[in-house]
Amino acid sequence: MKAGIFALQGAFIEHEHAMQALGADCVEIRRRAQFTDGLDCIILPGGESTVQGKLLREEGLLEPVRAAIMGGLPVFGTCAGLILLARELSNDENVYLGTMDVCVRRNAYGRQLGSFRCDADIKGIGSFPAVFIRAPYIEQAGAGVDVLAAVNGKIVAARQGNMLATAFHPELTGDLRVHALFCGMARGRA
Ligand code: GLN
Repeated sequence: MKAGIFALQGAFIEHEHAMQALGADCVEIRRRAQFTDGLDCIILPGGESTVQGKLLREEGLLEPVRAAIMGGLPVFGTCAGLILLARELSNDENVYLGTMDVCVRRNAYGRQLGSFRCDADIKGIGSFPAVFIRAPYIEQAGAGVDVLAAVNGKIVAARQGNMLATAFHPELTGDLRVHALFCGMARGRA
């Protein structure tokens, strides 16, 4: 299985290591020409969504990536990646890929809770060590969205068809279960 890891900015290398540990071959994507047909799935890592969105736009990647996701290419977005996938941001004018029917609040935990770690109960997985870094959360999810986890009443993991998104960073924990769930989605399609 070939996984395309967006490597424009942010925490992408940890995703690569997690996917490789699960037997996937990884390709880093920075340029339009690297986003090819042979990919079985893609990952949008955490980082700064404004920077990533700008680079995707400048590189001409927004449209082809949006079309591929709409065509069923499995995608996993973490943190900033969730923001890129969201149909709407409640505290920001921007929309990037806009493929997932969720309304997301950026930097939703404020300054005091800029970064924290807690246990999240993820549907189908169980208790999972969730690392949040200036994280967003999902304020509203559409009818077609399966809520996979909530922390303090806020949605922090969700799936809609071929799209998986977490507000936290499973790639920073060494726990591969969320990536394994995603690999299952990708293999199911491949
Ligand atoms: N605060 C970042 C943003 O709004 C997301 C943080 C992260 O990806 N860890 O894009």
